[in-house]
Amino acid sequence: MRAHTLVIGGGVMGLSIAAELAARLDPLEAPVVLFERREFGAGSSGRSGAILRAFYSDRELIGMARDSLRAYASFATRTGRTIGFTRCGVLSIGAPGAQAVLIERNVAAMRECGVEVERIDAARLRELVPGIDVAPDTIAAFEPGGGFVDPQRTCQAFAALARSRGATLREGARVVRWFVEHGRAVAVEVECAGALQRVEFQRAVVAAGPWTRALLELLGVRLPLRAVRPEQHFVAMPAPPSGAASFERESPEEWLDARFAPPREPRAAHPVLLDLERGFYTRCEPVRGRTRIGALDYERDVELADPDALDERVSADFSAWARERLCSRLPAYSETSDVDAQAAWYTLTPDSQALIGPCPGAHNVFVASGFSGHGFKLAPSIGEGVAQLMLGEAVGAFDPHFFAPERFEQRRARSGGAFGL
Ligand SMILES: Cc1cc2nc3c(=O)[nH]c(=O)nc-3n(C[C@H](O)[C@H](O)[C@H](O)COP(=O)(O)OP(=O)(O)OC[C@H]3O[C@@H](n4cnc5c(N)ncnc54)[C@H](O)[C@@H]3O)c2cc1C
Repeated sequence: MRAHTLVIGGGVMGLSIAAELAARLDPLEAPVVLFERREFGAGSSGRSGAILRAFYSDRELIGMARDSLRAYASFATRTGRTIGFTRCGVLSIGAPGAQAVLIERNVAAMRECGVEVERIDAARLRELVPGIDVAPDTIAAFEPGGGFVDPQRTCQAFAALARSRGATLREGARVVRWFVEHGRAVAVEVECAGALQRVEFQRAVVAAGPWTRALLELLGVRLPLRAVRPEQHFVAMPAPPSGAASFERESPEEWLDARFAPPREPRAAHPVLLDLERGFYTRCEPVRGRTRIGALDYERDVELADPDALDERVSADFSAWARERLCSRLPAYSETSDVDAQAAWYTLTPDSQALIGPCPGAHNVFVASGFSGHGFKLAPSIGEGVAQLMLGEAVGAFDPHFFAPERFEQRRARSGGAFGL
């Protein structure tokens, strides 16, 4: 089997990249092939919060989040496939002092980048989220256009889009080995249903999430990637406010004639909350009737030498911490029950920004990994930019220098806060 361009990994990044490559390449002349060792979304993507916010400290990321939000918001109208896009707004809350300074700075940068955002006070917070417990001097950034998508549906939708454009996507197909000739990677060995197959390629991209480091080490490429194990806790979601809530925005689907619009997504009970002061984030998952809570740092996340050794059991300590954080901010949750808990993987880099570009020492093999727990929202821009980069086009979707894998050796990486905050 021969591929012009090979994508390894069927998470949101590999699938978005495959869809963008397939839009640019003739399926007969230059086939795009993607291998996923399990099923689409089996890694971090399927367990993601998939929150869409542009609240970032860096203009590069703000611009990508802005463009990707537009792509997600118009996904259903452009492709006919719904991804659970919900525009419930995103609130980033902070205390006076350093957090307030960060919020003011990010709001100014977001406005300069054309993102709609309000800097709001405690009174407006209480209007948006009745019952929220905030001090009089709390401040927040409110992004009315932000929200979330459904991570599994989004992976499936990118896969369907890539296939409709002529890409070949295989699930249950694991890349186990590289073939190198005259110093250049030329093929991989793929294990599929117990059989091994050699697949040749001209260019490849490894978007294998937490498995990327080990897979590239087989090729002699060493990158500063490490996998950690975040935990999330889920409680039952209270009923959304009756009538149209002031935090809700119309989705583009709703601009269509109702006869042609896809069914409306179930409503969230409140906007997404990034609580800088209390160190957690929360977002409603209305389709599953639950609300997710996670930590806003990586400090309690255990490092995983082998990503396959993920212990699925969530500690009682974490669940108790998460419930206490949520209820302290939103006391309405005190009445609701615990419904689930989940462990997952983040793939971290030293500056919490992804590694994207040709691998040092293996220039026809690209890497797109290390999204450090905040990549889902950026996947449309990543897909477009990686396709541009791999095909030698001018890269308009992002600045390749920002994500260059060799930035640490060249000592030009910036020190980044967790989740790019
Ligand atoms: C709990 C959690 C919450 C998050 N919340 C948010 C959020 O709210 N907003 C946001 O923007 N981001 C969020 N993120 C981050 C975001 O989900 C990730 O950055 C993104 O999903 C990474 O996608 P990926 O495709 O790089 O990796 P993955 O989804 O891990 O995909 C890698 C794929 O490669 C496959 N693979 C591995 N090895 C091989 C091989 N040898 N051969 C073939 N296939 C292989 C795996 O099976 C896997 O499916 C969150 C992440 C987690 C874990």
